[in-house]
Amino acid sequence: MLRENVSLQAYNTFGIDVQARWFIEIDSLTRATEFLVDNLNAGQDVYILGGGSNLLLTDDLQGLVLCNRIMGKEVVKEDEKHVYLKVGAGENWHELVLYCLAQDWGGIENLSLIPGCVGAAPIQNIGAYGVELKDVFVELETLSLATGNPRRFDANACGFGYRDSYFKRTGKGKYLITSVTLRLNKAPHQLNTSYGAIEAELAQQHDGPYTIQNVSKAVIAIRQSKLPDPAEIGNSGSFFKNPVISASAFGELQAQHPSVPHYPQSDGPVKVPAGWLIEQAGWKGKRIGDYGVHERQALVLVNYGRASGQDIFALSEEIMQSVLDQFQIQLEREVNVW
Ligand code: FAD
Ligand code: NAP
Repeated sequence: MLRENVSLQAYNTFGIDVQARWFIEIDSLTRATEFLVDNLNAGQDVYILGGGSNLLLTDDLQGLVLCNRIMGKEVVKEDEKHVYLKVGAGENWHELVLYCLAQDWGGIENLSLIPGCVGAAPIQNIGAYGVELKDVFVELETLSLATGNPRRFDANACGFGYRDSYFKRTGKGKYLITSVTLRLNKAPHQLNTSYGAIEAELAQQHDGPYTIQNVSKAVIAIRQSKLPDPAEIGNSGSFFKNPVISASAFGELQAQHPSVPHYPQSDGPVKVPAGWLIEQAGWKGKRIGDYGVHERQALVLVNYGRASGQDIFALSEEIMQSVLDQFQIQLEREVNVW
């Protein structure tokens, strides 16, 4: 049902209270197609909402917010080594991970406990602990917001990059993703445990050999120990991307800051954790009224209660400027600002 003047506070993990002029939840492909075709001439802006966990809402939205709740899981192909699973874009991502683990299908266990919906996962090519969506991605289906026509995208057409895709660039705001098909692995599984604290966390659990279910539990435990739960403190996860800078720029940075953590990329540039830069610039744990920088994770901006999206946006500007002044590195926001 189309509703008017709806508060979006419960629909974004920052808990920002702005209103949508028009709001509709859609739970089937047929309904989505009908709705888009019927509204083609309405001429209003359309905002697609999943779980609202990668958003900063800075003002009331005058257009239409379409909340995607298209559900369903279907094995569309299977061979000796893989299962091809087509998933409705409105399914919850973490519940999908748990479902796959229950079937003993591997590939997304390192992406446990990421909030949000399946349809948003390709938008920024979600990633964590050394795995990205693109590693298991086969294709996705969309409806054009301009025509209501269906279009299928393979991995190449999605143009995946580091927390990036075609849908954050030229395809931004043009499509409703309705399903995503993943290629999952059958046993025996290859585990990806080289990243961060996974091995240490696994060793605490038991002696091994380890399973994909163990890896998921380890990732969940690490995340719960480090990240604020949006149900308790409003946040959108990492607010900024980790900058990837040229080898020569990194050489200069390291000469001035020998202890800078860094991760060389295969093709030459170097990734520097944005959280480290923000912490060095003195922001970690800083609180201004009802908003601030999380005390355990400098990459996460938080809403302690009644902050506005504009407060948090202004804080992000200040952080970016101070990192630029101190390190000559331009941070980029990861969250989508509306
Ligand atoms: P939303 O916030 O609703 O939308 C995000 C963007 O995608 C918007 O531009 C929206 O228009 C678009 N969109 C959403 N659904 C569709 C659709 N069906 N069709 C077209 N466009 C759509 N991200 C990571 O990559 N790795 C992490 O480890 C991670 N950890 C997080 C931890 C916490 C505590 C939080 C709060 C966030 C974290 N995130 C992480 C960010 C976020 O969870 C992901 O980006 C997630 O994929 C967003 O899903 P969503 O459904 O909430 O998207
Ligand atoms: P962390 O382990 O404290 O590491 C800090 C940063 O260094 C990470 O962001 C990560 O970059 C990079 N890093 C660490 N080990 C690496 C390795 N072996 N190879 C390459 N890069 C490495 O990070 P964290 O904050 O606790 O997060 C853990 C994982 O969850 C990360 O992958 C992070 O991206 C993901 N996460 C994402 C969000 C989000 O909203 N996007 C929120 C929470 C956690 P990468 O980020 O590039 O991996």
